[in-house]
Amino acid sequence: MNEFVFENLRLLDPEAGRLVAGMKVWVRGDRIVAVGHDVEPPPGVARVDLGDRVLMPGLIDCHIHIMSIKTKWANNTLMHMPASLANAGAAVKLKTLLMRGYTTVRDAAGADRGHREAVESGQLLGPRLFVSGRAVSQTGGHGDARTMVDHAFPCACQHLAVGTTGGISRIADGVDQVRRAVRDEIRLGADAIKIFVSGGVGSDADPIHFMQFSPEEIRAVVEECENADTYALAHAYTADTIYRAVENGVRSIEHGNFLDDRAAELMVEKGTYFVPTLVAYEATMKFGREQGYPERNFLKNERVLAVGTKSLEVARKAGVKMAFGTDLIGELDDHQSEEFEIRSRVLPNADIIRSATLVGAEVVRRVGEIGVIAKGAYADMILLDKDPLEDISVLASGGKDIRMIMKGGIAHKDELSLFPAEAVMA
Ligand code: ZN
Ligand code: ZN
Repeated sequence: MNEFVFENLRLLDPEAGRLVAGMKVWVRGDRIVAVGHDVEPPPGVARVDLGDRVLMPGLIDCHIHIMSIKTKWANNTLMHMPASLANAGAAVKLKTLLMRGYTTVRDAAGADRGHREAVESGQLLGPRLFVSGRAVSQTGGHGDARTMVDHAFPCACQHLAVGTTGGISRIADGVDQVRRAVRDEIRLGADAIKIFVSGGVGSDADPIHFMQFSPEEIRAVVEECENADTYALAHAYTADTIYRAVENGVRSIEHGNFLDDRAAELMVEKGTYFVPTLVAYEATMKFGREQGYPERNFLKNERVLAVGTKSLEVARKAGVKMAFGTDLIGELDDHQSEEFEIRSRVLPNADIIRSATLVGAEVVRRVGEIGVIAKGAYADMILLDKDPLEDISVLASGGKDIRMIMKGGIAHKDELSLFPAEAVMA
């Protein structure tokens, strides 16, 4: 069924943060052709009654890692796992993401052009995928996966520069090497370039507060990105590293747990996006130990978790644009949608929904095409019994409260049998 009209629904308008009754949504092929009260398609077009339920845009997660398959430390890298097995795991993850209502995701290191094209061509079932290829790290930075007793020369080959998840990063030092690494990832088909500018939780040799990459190196990354009509996203925890990255042109700040007023104000001035990933620390705290997370990394996790939702409050006060991100590794991925609940402790539901729709579309540079139910947009939509503006738990429950999931006009979950069974791809 490639043409139909949804009727008898309440349409969630993320921009206004309210529901609009009496609207109809006309879909042809993979796009929405009209939305309004007075939409009247010709008699041959099928009408689908949504029973006064809430229709909203599909969700967008701007920080995931489909190539992170195993949380268990020793079995977690391409040194321990064939790439074929990692890719099989990635395929399962992609499908699971879609079944939780995410119709677009940005992979923040690990996934490459092949994953994106496999989804586009229908070989893999999953959300629209934006990839960063391998992230760029300095020697001894968050993406340098060597242990502290390893003297091997860092290289860009997959088995050495693997980060915590297998093939997610590469090492570059100095302006020339950094330029080459960025050019190479762009050549390989990255949609955006990920860099590490502070220490991280899951790595051995770099405390959280380490400042990584010089201003010159960051500027070189950004310049190469701009030359290729793309942008840089930066893993950064501390206020100083956020400030330095933003000052030098990075477009989105990932994690940002120690964001302060000064850095937040600069983000507003520069129009930088903020992608918090708070569920990662809560899930690691609750379930990491049983999954083999090492003690020293656990202590780092405690530190970034302790500041909790403070960064959200700082960002909100300053008016920083916030997108939705989760950053779960391995099996912890199941907790993805709990990010909605965590944010609701300090943010209004409407703001969180905007983050996971409109702002996400801005981050991946597809404004008007995704994150909205509007004429010309992709028909990416989810259907709920309850209004998430009132009760965010319907989005936090990991897809269980979503009755229908549609991407590009095709239903991938259809609990209400709105479509003929053969038209549903699940
Ligand atoms: Zn990170
Ligand atoms: Zn990440």
